[in-house]
Amino acid sequence: MDGKTHLAAGIITGVGVVYLENKLGFEISPSNLLFIVGCAAGSLLPDIDIDNSMLGRFIPGWLFWEHRTVTHSIFFMVVLGLIGLLFKMDIGLIIGLVVGAATHLILDGITPMGLPYLLFPFVVKKTYRKEP
Ligand SMILES: [Zn+2]
Repeated sequence: MDGKTHLAAGIITGVGVVYLENKLGFEISPSNLLFIVGCAAGSLLPDIDIDNSMLGRFIPGWLFWEHRTVTHSIFFMVVLGLIGLLFKMDIGLIIGLVVGAATHLILDGITPMGLPYLLFPFVVKKTYRKEP
């Protein structure tokens, strides 16, 4: 799946959640806006393991050895959250990063390549499915 699709899914999810919060009576706050920004950024972060992806072009290629490995795992989402807490980021931004990464994994998970490292480091399996 390409970066534009992931970005669109992240933004739609962020805006949708904030819309529902507002519908339920919560007020729009700066944290809500940071949540949307976090969803957008988080939706692109797992593909930093691709040299020419939207964010991967800014990351040295030697940092990652193969596509859809560690950055496409629940472990990566936890690390994102911990990094956010470590740097004392806004909680809306942190949750947005994790939710955005989750949208990425959901979309990649329905492709034939699947997510062999989803449960890294506990389970690493090949889930490649053959094209019909
Ligand atoms: Zn991906």
